[in-house]
Formats: sequence, structure tokens, C-alpha cells
Amino acid sequence: MSHNSVDDDNRRTPLARSDLRSVLKRAVVRTGLLARNKIGEVAQALADVCVQPRDQVRRRQDRGKGSGDFSDLPAYAGILKHRELGKLFTIGDPFYRCHDGRAGTETWMEGRRYLNFASYDYLGLNHHPALAEAARRAIERFGTSVSASRIVAGERPLHRELETALADFYGVERAVAFVSGHATNVSTIGTLMSAEDLIVYDEFAHNSVLLGAKLSRATALPFRHNDLTALEQVLTAHRDLHKRALIVVEGLYSMDGDLAPLPELLELKEKYGAWLMIDEAHTLGVLGSKGHGSAEHFGIDPRRVDIWMGTLSKTLATCGGYIAGRQELIDILKYRAPALVYSVGLSPPLGAAALAALQVVKAEPERVVRLQANGKLFLTLAKNAGLDTGTSEGYAIVSVIVGDSIKAGRLSDRLLTRGLNVLPIIYPAVPLKAARFRFFITSEHTPAQIQSAVRIMREELDLVDGRKRAA
Ligand code: PMP
Repeated sequence: MSHNSVDDDNRRTPLARSDLRSVLKRAVVRTGLLARNKIGEVAQALADVCVQPRDQVRRRQDRGKGSGDFSDLPAYAGILKHRELGKLFTIGDPFYRCHDGRAGTETWMEGRRYLNFASYDYLGLNHHPALAEAARRAIERFGTSVSASRIVAGERPLHRELETALADFYGVERAVAFVSGHATNVSTIGTLMSAEDLIVYDEFAHNSVLLGAKLSRATALPFRHNDLTALEQVLTAHRDLHKRALIVVEGLYSMDGDLAPLPELLELKEKYGAWLMIDEAHTLGVLGSKGHGSAEHFGIDPRRVDIWMGTLSKTLATCGGYIAGRQELIDILKYRAPALVYSVGLSPPLGAAALAALQVVKAEPERVVRLQANGKLFLTLAKNAGLDTGTSEGYAIVSVIVGDSIKAGRLSDRLLTRGLNVLPIIYPAVPLKAARFRFFITSEHTPAQIQSAVRIMREELDLVDGRKRAA
């Protein structure tokens, strides 16, 4: 299951809030599942009992009677469910933690210092003086906003400079920048594909890819993660039924930390006459000896990939997204993609800082080398410590799989208490028993910080598993 597998709360309806807590408690007692190693089953039992099939209450006579309260929405029941589970198992909410200042390899929250492995700032550029200076100068010259879409309010030199630099960086004809990475995927896929087309995507592809596919109304089919045989089966069965076909993968998967097999994907896309789109959100500055991403890593001609997509929010330490490729592709997006035509252009400080960041990536390739060494070190130490790192390949993202969501919640609290900020990913984002901690490694982490993180993770996992007694 991917992190996009939209909640099945859509198909269910909430219990009254007052009933929720008592139902949860009764379920725990009744199922008698609280014995060690049964926590996951408890979570599942609770998830099942605290919602009812939506159809039961969505009766015909309810229609047309007003929209009711927001708290009646199934989404709200899902949120309540997680909160109640948290209370029941005395687990704090690991999400929306508030940081006091800039989050680097260390961060401060409520006045306390933490070791930080929860930032996508892969090359540590969020505190680079060149970015701050570029942003400052852009504000002085252009202000903080361009106020409307570039198609009507016009663009600024920095938009053009950034896009030229991105196209050069990828070795393709042109690029265009959007204000959001998520919107880049939604709008690009939604604009290019239509009802008569086929989209085949890796099951772990980002939510924005799925939403783009939905918007396009194309036939959208997932294939098993990184399984080329499964991809070919889908193409064999469906390609001929559709006009155009698009294969969408991520260069480096953010849930598992593994790479898409680009050379084989290129062969398949050429064999079946499909376009290939690669989401490089987590590969810019990460893969390849100079950080140019998947093409450099695999030594392929970047022009063989039809659509390069990426975000400005990770290595480039700002906010926004981009598409790079052929000139016609970029023209279509500039005149048709809703996220460009109907949404404001990149704000001057962000565009200027992203451009400065790209220049730093080019000028300081030693950051990429350090990042890659740190990723390998983390993976090696984690494996040596017996942690389950799944398919992680040791490039900036290493997932440590711990089991069920309740266990992950408990661990999350304990890790925080030990001064380690790393975020859990739980069901339904990942399968019920495959909750994990995603460690985001940067070029700025020191070997000592990496050693500490692995040691703390190992120790706390043992404590939660009851293998050792707390000191
Ligand atoms: N694609 C992938 C693979 C991502 O991981 C993300 C965000 N984490 C996005 C797209 C969206 O990017 P942004 O957060 O910059 O909007």
C-alpha cells in the first residue's frame, strides 16, 4: 500500500464522539489482545469498531437536508479515531511538532535541543548565506510577491534565470517552475493526459501523482513497487487500448529509500511507446557524483526521459516545483497547466534563493559526496545494529521498519524523550505492520550524530520490545 492509499474512512461514518472512547475500551477488553505482540491486532480491531459502514446511515431520507456539521464528515471520524487511540495508549501526537528556529542537524522545540533526522534539507542549504543574501536582494528589488499568475502579471528575470539554470542542470531544452511541488505533479499530469489515455504508476508514487491521474480522467493503474515484470504485464494488457501512455516513477522513493531502475524503465517505455515521467523530489543533490539526480547516477542521456519533475522544497531549500524537458512540453504547461495559468508565480525571494541553491550545488559538489558517505554510513550502522531497513539503499533516506502503528507511536515518544527527532509513518500510509521511522540524512550530519541516532533507535526498540530493562 502506498502513502497515497487514500483513507478508507471515505467509505465509513463516525460513531458519536461520546461513544467512541467507551467503544474503544470495550473492544480492547473484549478482544483480549493487549498481550505483547498483539498491539497491531488491537489497533486493527479498534480501527474496525470505531467506524461503521457509511451506507448504513446514508439513507435516502437524509439527502437534501443540509450539509450538517464538519464533525459529521468521515475524515473527522478518522482524526478522532487516531486521537482516541493515542489517549488510550498514552501516545503523544508526533505530527505538527513546532520548532523554535531553523531545523538543521539539530533543532530546538519548546526550548529543548534535539538531534534532527526529519528534514529534507539534504545539502544543508537552508542556512547557507548565499541563499539568504539572494532572497534579501530579491525582496529589495521585486518585493515579496509577484501578486498574480505570470501569464497576466508578468514574470521577473529571476523566474527565467531559475528555469534556464534548471534546464541546464538536467541537460534538457527547457524548464518551468511552479509554486508547489505537489501542484506541479497534479497540474502536469492532469494537463497532459486525458480520458483516452493510460497512466501506469509505481504503487509507492506520491499522492500528487495519483491526484494528477484522477484529474486527467485517464485510466490509471498501479504496478507493484519497482517490479518491472508487473509493469510490463500492465503494459501488455492495457497499452493497446489507449491512445497515449505515461509511466510515472520516483527517482528515490521517500517511503522506502530505494531507487527506480531507470535503464530498464527506459527500455520498457520505448518498447511500449509510452512517456516516462520521473519525480526527482528526493534525488536532486542526492544522486550522481555531482548531484544531478537519476540520469547522472545511471549514466543515461537525460533527453531519453520525457518529463523530469522535481521540487524546490528539499535540496533547494525553498518552496515550489518544476518540470524539465522538451520545449513543446514546457510551452503546453505554461499556457495550459492550471497551477501556472491560474496561480501566482514564484515569489521573488523563493525563486532567487532556489537559483542561489542550485548554484551552490554546482559550486560545492563536496556536499553531495558528504551526503552520500553519510547515507552509506547510516545504512551500514543500522544494518550492523540489526535494524530492519527494508529496501533502503542508503541515499539520504533510510527507513527503519518497526512493526505496527501503536509500537511506532510509543517509540516516537521515547525517541523524542531521548532527544531524537525522527518521524514515524504509520497505517494507512504504510501497511498495518510496516510502520516505520524515516531518517532523512543530510551532508551536514556528523558521523557521531549518525552513530547516536542508530544507537538510540536500537536501544529504544529493544526497550519497547521488552528485550532490555530501562536503566
Ligand atoms: N513528490 C514527492 C516524491 C514528494 O516526496 C513530495 C513532497 N514530499 C512532493 C512531490 C511534493 O513536493 P512539495 O512538498 O515541494 O510540494
